[in-house]
Amino acid sequence: AHELSIAVQVFPFGSDQLLLLAQDVTDLQKTEAMRRDFVANVSHEIRTPLTVLIGFLETMQSIELSAEQRNRYLSLMMTQSSRMKSLVEDLLTLANLEANTSFAPMQEFDVKAEMASLKIDAEALSAGRHKIIFDVLTDTALYGERRELHSAFSNLISNAIRYTPEGGQITVSWSLSPSRHGIFSVTDTGPGIDAVHLPRITERFYRVDGSRSRDTGGTGLGLAIVKHIATRHNAQLLITSVVGEGSTFKLRFAPERLI
Ligand code: ADP
Repeated sequence: AHELSIAVQVFPFGSDQLLLLAQDVTDLQKTEAMRRDFVANVSHEIRTPLTVLIGFLETMQSIELSAEQRNRYLSLMMTQSSRMKSLVEDLLTLANLEANTSFAPMQEFDVKAEMASLKIDAEALSAGRHKIIFDVLTDTALYGERRELHSAFSNLISNAIRYTPEGGQITVSWSLSPSRHGIFSVTDTGPGIDAVHLPRITERFYRVDGSRSRDTGGTGLGLAIVKHIATRHNAQLLITSVVGEGSTFKLRFAPERLI
């Protein structure tokens, strides 16, 4: 169902006439509601780790801890602090991307070399828990902004690794489609994503399973960032997924972005 919001203004016009001005403010109200949701989400995401941190600090102030307990507390506090740091970093990245809606500059980006360094990072993150395959099927390079492209690629790979249970497989490839589009693809054998979630999955803070996603160390902003970067690079983010089998995330770059 579509709800329409109309703002009506009345102006006296001449001696016995009125001018009625009706304006469709549906989009305006939607934007305002989204802004309010966003602020509420950010506050919640920051307050949660802060509450945990303060709890630990209070305990440490009030009771004498053994060296072992103290180390455990410190490492838990480190985890919460790192989470807040990632969140703030992702928020800044997103704010910069949203402020800058123009197309990304045309710097040369060597995808083949990038794939080699992504592979090293992926293996470190997986720490031997997954089978990781990298396929470079074309020498084609890209025109774009290096940091952004790296951030988009590594976000998709780290999601695949974080959501795929031990023993699963992650396949990353760079290829050229028959229509001469550049395809960066990440396939995992993880839990998959139900089709009902797919249309909203790139929204800020949208999570399929809130607690699981937070436990895996996500900020809920990764795919929103990837989507913005894709748009700035004349690319589409395509997602296909089967629950229980896995997901494929593709970035499809227009021919004018290829070298
Ligand atoms: P998060 O930081 O929570 O991972 P993202 O924006 O990167 O945030 O992803 C949004 C949500 O999409 C995640 O919370 C998760 O539920 C789902 N998701 C993303 N990538 C995958 C994947 N490879 N497999 C299964 N679910 C995924």
